[in-house]
This record gives sequence, C-alpha cells and structure tokens, in this order.
Amino acid sequence: MYPVLKTDLKKIKENVSIIAKRCGEKNIDIMCVTKVFCADPKVAQAVLDGGATMLADSRVKNLMKLKDLNAKKVLIRIPMLSEVEEVVKYADLSFNSELKTIKAIDAEAKKAGKVHDILLMVDLGDLREGVLPKDVDATVEEILKLDNINLYGLGVNLTCYGGIIPSTTNLGELVEIATAIEKKFNIKLQMVSGGNSSSYYLVENGQIPTGITNLRPGEAYVLGRETAYGHPIEGLHSDCFTLEGQIVELKEKDSLPKGEIGMDAFGNVPSFEDKGKMLRAIVAVGQQDARPGDLVPRDEKTDILGASSDHLIVDITHSDKEYQVGDILSFSVDYGSLLMLATSEYVTKVSE
Ligand SMILES: *Cc1c(COP(=O)(O)O)cnc(C)c1O
Repeated sequence: MYPVLKTDLKKIKENVSIIAKRCGEKNIDIMCVTKVFCADPKVAQAVLDGGATMLADSRVKNLMKLKDLNAKKVLIRIPMLSEVEEVVKYADLSFNSELKTIKAIDAEAKKAGKVHDILLMVDLGDLREGVLPKDVDATVEEILKLDNINLYGLGVNLTCYGGIIPSTTNLGELVEIATAIEKKFNIKLQMVSGGNSSSYYLVENGQIPTGITNLRPGEAYVLGRETAYGHPIEGLHSDCFTLEGQIVELKEKDSLPKGEIGMDAFGNVPSFEDKGKMLRAIVAVGQQDARPGDLVPRDEKTDILGASSDHLIVDITHSDKEYQVGDILSFSVDYGSLLMLATSEYVTKVSE
C-alpha cells in the first residue's frame, strides 16, 4: 500500500564505500549515522557492507534495532539519566558532556560487570553539546577516577545548531586539546572525532587536520551531499531514497481558487498565480508524511503546487506522460522529509 519509501541498498552501499575509501586515505575511519532512516537494520547492513565498522544513532531505541548487526554501536546524543541502563546494554560507546551522567553510567556499568567507552564532547563554538575547552582538563581528571568508564576519545559537533563551519582552525583546536590531554594525563586516546557531514569537504580538499581520526557522516552518504556548503559529493548517488505516492484524483481545473480566500489548513493565507486551466493530480501523501517543499518530482515536467495534511497537489499539465488515476508519482526527498517519512507508521518501507 502506498505511500512507499523506497531505499536502494546498492546505492547506499556504494556511497558509503566511496566515503570510507576517501576518509581511509587520510587515516580517518567513519561511524555512519543511521538516525534519518530510523536505523532500519536492512539499510544499516548495507552501510556495513559498504565498509563502515561503526553504526551511530542518537536514540537508544534505534540502537536496539541494530543489536544483531556485527558493528560497534555508538550513541551520539548525550544520554538521558533515564536511559543509562539501556545505554550500557545497547551502546558500545556513548558521547557525553555531563559528569553527573558519566558517573551514573559508571555505576550502571559496574552492576553489569562492564567497562563502558565514552567520548567526551567538546564545544568549539557551535553551542550545542560539549564541555567548553577551559573545562576539559578538570572533566577528564574526574572521568579518569571512574573504574568502569574508559575515556575512548574526544569529539566535536559543528554546524547542526550554530551553523559553524568546520575548519582547520576549530578542528585543529580539537586535535591540540586531545594531544595536551594525552600528555598531561599520560593516556592514549583511541578516537578524535571531527564532526558530521559538514566536515567531509575538508577530507576532499586535503585540509582535514592530522590527528582527526574519525568522522560521523549521515547526510553525506544518505543524500550524497556535504553539508558545510550543501554541494553534491562527486561520484555519489543523490537518489538512494524515493517516495512513491498514488494518484487518487486527476482533473483539469482552474489555477486560481474561486471565492473569497481565507486561511488554509495550517492557518496561512495562501496566494495564487493565474496560469489558466491546468491538469491537476492529487497524490495521497500530505504534510503528515512529508513537507511538500522538501519533495522534488522525478518527472521534471511536473510541479508541486502544495499540500494539506493528506493531499499533495501536483501540476502535471506539461508532463510528457499521460498519467491516470492509480498511477504512481515518484519524488526525491530532502533530509527533513526523509526523517518524517522514515518515522511515520503510515508509510510503507521497501528496501531492495
Ligand atoms: C546527526 C549527527 C551526526 C550526523 O549528521 P549529518 O549532518 O547527517 O552528517 C553526527 N554526529 C552527531 C553528534 C549527530 O547528532
């Protein structure tokens, strides 16, 4: 039953393998982030087939779905105190920034007879998660006192909140902090994780600082795009995911609504351009499934006019194809809509 979110597993695998290879040439390994497709295990397996050795997600519930896959599982959102038990059970490594939580994980790991790996996040200016550089030393000192916690490394996240672009300067600072920590405490860090898909362009232009040992691509392999500047990555597929919806009505109608215009279904007052009569298809997909502005019709001669909760209206006047009721329209999806579609129980998932 439609709508269907289709995943091309071969393209996912190829995207991952290219990124893994280009990062590998710079001595960088990758953990692939699975949150945008809700960690569907089949897609995650394709990621592993492409050469990733670690799977990362922001939600423990997603890591649970991956428990049978042969890879190191990483929790990349700072854990909630309410999920510490699950973190120890389902994550092999978790990202942290709060001593209170790290101590709770230590206690839980002790109960489970485990030593839990953590990555300490450092905030280098994006103002999302992480301890400030001035607090790293004192935090590390406390972490090293805990018997059931292993400080696996340091990491940074950029761009997602503050829009800060990764550079040789801020990533260089992370490497400097890591080196200073190793020296001061006489320890060896196994990972210095230099960010998400927005750091990838530094791999391609050769400017990624030596000492960054890991990146965490999500969007880069999912949509084939780096996210510092939004450029497509050469050689990668941008169409791994496709939304398919079915036409439920197809009629020639005016382009201008008739009568006094008030608010639409979402409280906005719409405006319209008079393009005369047009052939309009209603596809059974709506704002509940995806944001219409995030969808791009694969038939380039069609145009999305708008959507209410459950109806997507498409101008098919100029298409070369003679569509009929029951036909399927396909769309490329952007990040936000992919997340919504993957999360929705109304959308059938097919991967092949
Ligand atoms: C979501 C996320 C990523 C992946 O981000 P992309 O922009 O999809 O590459 C990496 N690291 C952290 C901490 C994240 O939250």
